[in-house]
Amino acid sequence: MSFKSEIARRRTFGIISHPDAGKTTLTEKLLLFGGAIQEAGAVKSNKIKKGATSDFMEIERQRGISVATSVLAFEYKGTKINILDTPGHKDFAEDTFRTLTAVDSVIVVIDVAKGVEEQTEKLVEVCRMRNIPMIVFINKLDREGKDAFDLLDEVEQKLGLKVTPMSFPIGMGYDFKGIYNLWEQNVNLFSGDSRKNIEETTEISDLSSEKLDELIGDASAEELRDNIELVQGIYPKFDKTKYLEGHLQPVFFGSALNNFGVRELLDAFVEIAPTPRAKQSEERLVKPDEDKFTGFVFKIHANMDPNHRDRLAFIKIVSGTFKRNTPYLHVRNNKKLKFSSPNAFFAEKKEIVDISYPGDIVGLHDTGNFKIGDTLTEGEVINYKGIPSFSPEHFRYINNADPLKSKQLYKGIDQLMDEGVAQLFTLELNGRKVIGTVGALQYEVIQYRLEHEYGAKCTYENLNVHKACWVEPTDKKNQEFEEFSRVKQRFLAKDKRGQLVFLADSMFTLQMTQQKYPSIIFHFTSEYD
Ligand code: GDP
Repeated sequence: MSFKSEIARRRTFGIISHPDAGKTTLTEKLLLFGGAIQEAGAVKSNKIKKGATSDFMEIERQRGISVATSVLAFEYKGTKINILDTPGHKDFAEDTFRTLTAVDSVIVVIDVAKGVEEQTEKLVEVCRMRNIPMIVFINKLDREGKDAFDLLDEVEQKLGLKVTPMSFPIGMGYDFKGIYNLWEQNVNLFSGDSRKNIEETTEISDLSSEKLDELIGDASAEELRDNIELVQGIYPKFDKTKYLEGHLQPVFFGSALNNFGVRELLDAFVEIAPTPRAKQSEERLVKPDEDKFTGFVFKIHANMDPNHRDRLAFIKIVSGTFKRNTPYLHVRNNKKLKFSSPNAFFAEKKEIVDISYPGDIVGLHDTGNFKIGDTLTEGEVINYKGIPSFSPEHFRYINNADPLKSKQLYKGIDQLMDEGVAQLFTLELNGRKVIGTVGALQYEVIQYRLEHEYGAKCTYENLNVHKACWVEPTDKKNQEFEEFSRVKQRFLAKDKRGQLVFLADSMFTLQMTQQKYPSIIFHFTSEYD
C-alpha cells in the first residue's frame, strides 16, 4: 500500500466523557466490531474505583491497566483505527488535555439521564478551542432519561456546540423502541429483553410509508414523523466541511451496553472522521504526507517495574514514516537517538514494529531522555506547540525528610515532573520547591512513588496559593516590571522551563495586581504567543 493510502486509512481519536457515562463500554463495543477482542469485559476500565484500598494504591494498580489501554488499535472496513485513552477522573485532567493534543478527532459520550456533566464541559471546551472535530454519542437510551430535544439544547448551550442529529430515538427507557437513522434512512429496532447484538435494520427511506406503522405501532410512528420533521426544521443538515472545521457536531443516540446504535456510529465515523491532520510547529505547519518523519511525545509512563528504571514514551507520528533502528534527532537535546524496539499498539497488546505511519502512536523505551512535548525529527529543527500547562489547583511546599537521600529525591521529583504527574515551581526568594497539582490525590501518589521507586522520603507543607499565572512583561526593563518584581518577590517562582510565574494567594490579589501593573500580562496557561 502506498504511503498516501496508509495515511488516508488512519483515524486517530479519543473518547471523552464524565466518569460513568459509558466510555469504557463504548470502547469495548467498538473493539468487538473490529474483531480486536472476542468477548465483552476484555477491556479493563482505568477508572479509579472507590473501594477497600486507598485511592492512591488503586491508582498504582490502575497504572498497569492504563499502559494496556493507552492506545487501542483495530482495523474496521479497511481503516486503521487508533483510540487514545483519556482518563475521566478529574484529578487526571492534565493527562487528558495532553492526550487531546495527539488526537485528530473525538467522540463525546453523554449519559441520557445525567445530560452534560462537569468533566464533559471542561474537555469539550479544550477541543472547541482547538477546533477538533467532535461527534456526540448520547448513551443509555435503554434507561429513562431526558427528552431528546431538551438534551440537544443542553448540549448546544452548555458545551457551546452546534449540533445536527444523525439519528433519533423512538421512545426511551421502558418504551425505547429503537432509533431512526437519518444518515442511512433506516429504522433499527431494539428488543429490550435481549441484550444481544441487534443488527437488523429496516430500510425506511420514506417516513410516510406504512411499513413504519407496522414496525413500531401507529402512535410511535406518528410521533417519530413529527420529531423528524422538527429535527429537519430546526437543525442544519450535516456538512462534512463544517464538521471537520469543528463548527458542526453530528449527534448519535444509542446504548453502548446493549451494543445498540454503535455500528451506526462506527460506520459514520470511518466515513466522516478526519485522517491525520497537519500540525503547527513553532517553525511551520507540518503536513502528514511530507517524506520526512516528525513526531512528538504526549505521554510518558514510567517505572512500571520498580526494579528497572523503565519508561515508555508515547510518540504521535505527525509526518513521514517512523522506522526501527533509524537515528532521529531529539530536538531539545540536539542528540541523535535510535530505537531498536519501538512498540506499536494493537487492541490489548503491544508489538515491536519496523514501520509506523502518520496518525500512529509508537511507544519508545526511554532511559530519561524524554519530556512531555519533545519533538523527534529526521534532522530538521521543529518544535511542536500545544502541550500547555494549566494553573494547578493545589500547591504545597515539598520538603526532604531524609537528608541522606536528597539526590534521590531531586532525581525522583525531576522525573515525575517530566512524566507530567504535577508541576514544580522554585521560589525566586529562597529556592524552596513547590509542587502544584490538579487534584489532592497526586500528593499521595508522588510521596508513594518517591519512596518506592527512588528510595526518597518527603513531607509537604501547605501553601496558600489561589492560582499560578505565567508572567509576560511587555517590557522587561520598565519601572513597572522592576517594581512588580520587587514588591511581589515572595510570590514569584520559576516553572520547570524557567518561565516566570506569579503565585497569587487570592482572586482579589490577582485582580489588584493586574490593575496595578497594566503593562504586565498574566497568562493562565504556560503556552502563549
Ligand atoms: P466510563 O466511566 O465512562 O468508562 O463508564 P463505563 O463504560 O464504565 O460505564 C459505567 C456504567 O454504566 C457501567 O455500569 C455500565 O455497565 C453502564 N452502562 C454503559 N452503557 C450503558 C447503557 O447503554 N445502558 C445502561 N443501562 N447502562 C450502561
